[in-house]
Amino acid sequence: MKKIAILTSGGDAPGMNAAVRAVVRTAINRGLEVYGVIRGYNGLIRDELIPMTLRSVSDIIHRGGTVLYTARSPEFCTEAGMQKAVETCHRHGIEGVVVCGGDGSFRGAQDLTRHGIPCIGIPCTIDNDIACCEATIGYDTAANTIVDMVDKLRDTSQSHDRCSVVEVMGRHAGWLALTAGMAVGATSILVPEIPYHFDKDIVDRMRNTSTTGKHHFIVMVAEGVGHVNELAERIEEATGVETRATVLGHVQRGGSPSARDRVLASQMGSYAVNLLMEGKSNRVVATQSGQLVDFDINEALAMKKSLNMNKYQVAKEISI
Ligand code: ADP
Repeated sequence: MKKIAILTSGGDAPGMNAAVRAVVRTAINRGLEVYGVIRGYNGLIRDELIPMTLRSVSDIIHRGGTVLYTARSPEFCTEAGMQKAVETCHRHGIEGVVVCGGDGSFRGAQDLTRHGIPCIGIPCTIDNDIACCEATIGYDTAANTIVDMVDKLRDTSQSHDRCSVVEVMGRHAGWLALTAGMAVGATSILVPEIPYHFDKDIVDRMRNTSTTGKHHFIVMVAEGVGHVNELAERIEEATGVETRATVLGHVQRGGSPSARDRVLASQMGSYAVNLLMEGKSNRVVATQSGQLVDFDINEALAMKKSLNMNKYQVAKEISI
């Protein structure tokens, strides 16, 4: 193997740059040439590649976003788009591609591998919704960003005896809501995986908490549960506590990656290059019990991730 490429695809996540840096440096140190692909699979289709050097990844380990840019590429899902991407790889002699992204991007990697270009996936998503992997790159940073913001919100909620309903990212996965909710001591945590009962899970908990002398509340809601404005109105009506909804939005994706995400990305990047050099393909790098491992992408995509119920129960018991 002489030449590989790296791309970042789908939703961005803090730590993607650290992964790019690790892949580029590991590969160059092992004698490979590396191309950076601009804007995910679109860059392969349009032949937007830049040769990477040891220095082209200097001073990026601390930066959020991705220096390679990212994109969603509907064209890549068509046979014509795929053919163009494969031709670009052949034209440049690219023998392997490292794909940093989420499950959508891994489906793309699976497809590209089927078309003869070996791919390795590195899980980069703030949602932590890759089943084979305990913690994805970006999840820790996003959870910390939410905690920072909700701590600020708490100051004003406390001063006014208010309830803050906070919507965080996670259309199908409640990991961010659960972790950040536990870390800020939210009175209620609502996640897409577990149906909630309005009175039992919110109103009664607020009332019980109130009787012990606490009069401000945080209700943490994953995006997939939705309707935070309506929920805030209902809570105010049912409890008489002034309630405001706050949607944190895209700010959760940004910012400098945490030490944990930088280290994880560095280790996964190096591991991914090793896999390619060993002749492996269609694999996704993951962590299990703190150890780096790899899974077949087909197997990884078929796995279901369930929420950590122990964490959920503990959060529920102590946040009242
Ligand atoms: P994420 O990787 O963050 O889950 P997306 O689901 O948007 O993000 O996927 C990123 C890109 O991966 C898509 O825009 C598309 O180019 C590619 N992709 C997704 N699903 C497939 C598929 N089934 N076949 C080929 N490519 C796919």
